[in-house]
Amino acid sequence: MKRKGIIIVVSGFSGAGKGTIMKALTARYDQYALSISATTRDPRPGEVNGREYFFVSNEEFEKLIEEDGLIEHAGYVNHYYGTPRKFVEDKLNAGIDVILEIEIQGALQVKEQYKDAISLFVMPPSAQELEKRLRGRGTESEEVIAQRLKRACEEASEVEKYDFIVVNDNLDEAVERVHGIISAVHGTPDRNKEFIEDVRNQLFDLTK
Ligand code: ADP
Ligand code: 5GP
Repeated sequence: MKRKGIIIVVSGFSGAGKGTIMKALTARYDQYALSISATTRDPRPGEVNGREYFFVSNEEFEKLIEEDGLIEHAGYVNHYYGTPRKFVEDKLNAGIDVILEIEIQGALQVKEQYKDAISLFVMPPSAQELEKRLRGRGTESEEVIAQRLKRACEEASEVEKYDFIVVNDNLDEAVERVHGIISAVHGTPDRNKEFIEDVRNQLFDLTK
C-alpha cells in the first residue's frame, strides 16, 4: 500500500519548544522531513544557513515571492518568513510527511491550499514557564523577548483554529504525542480510500 505524505503544520508561541520537539521527533523517526524556511532575520549564534533557515536579504525574499517559490509567507516581529515550495512537494510525492514549523498566518494559508494538511499548536504548561524558556534560551534581547510575549498574547486567541494542541511539559511525552497524532491521522478512511477500495474488490471477488 503506497503511503501518501501529509503536511503537518506546527505553530506555537515563541519559546514553547516547537523547534526542540521537532528536532527530537525527526531524530527518532525517519518518516518525517522538516521543511527549512527562508527568513530575512539574522542567524542566531549556532544557526547555520541551509540547516535552521535559508537566511536571505529582503530583495532575495521578494524575488522568491515573485517567482511563486513559496507556498506561504508572513511577517513576524519585523521580519519575513516563508516556506519554499519545491522541497514540500518533492517530499509529499515521495510519501514522506512534511513538517512546517510556522506561525499562524502561514498556517492558515497552508490549510487553505492543502485540504488534507493537519495543524498542531504547541502550548507551554503555563505562561510563566513560557517566559522562563524564552529567557533561558538566551538568544534574544529583553526587547525582543517582550515583543514575542506580546505576540504570544495575540496568538493565544487563535488556538482554536488548530486541529490539535500539544502541551510541551515533559519533552519526551510531547514528542510521542505528536507522533501519535500524526499516526492516528494516517488511519482515517479518507486518507486510505484506495486501500479500502482494493480490499472491498478482493472481498467481492472472493465471494462471488
Ligand atoms: P520554539 O521553537 O517554540 O521557539 P525552542 O524549541 O527554541 O522553542 O525552545 C525554547 C527553550 O525552551 C529552549 O531553551 C529549549 O531548550 C527549552 N525547552 C523546550 N522544551 C522544553 C521542555 N519540555 N522542558 C523544558 N525546557 C524546554
Ligand atoms: P524564529 O525567529 O523564532 O525562528 O521564528 C519566529 C516565528 O516564525 C515562529 O513562530 C516560527 O514558527 C515562524 N516561522 C518560521 N518559519 C516560517 C515560515 O516559513 N513561514 C511562516 N509563516 N512562519 C515561519
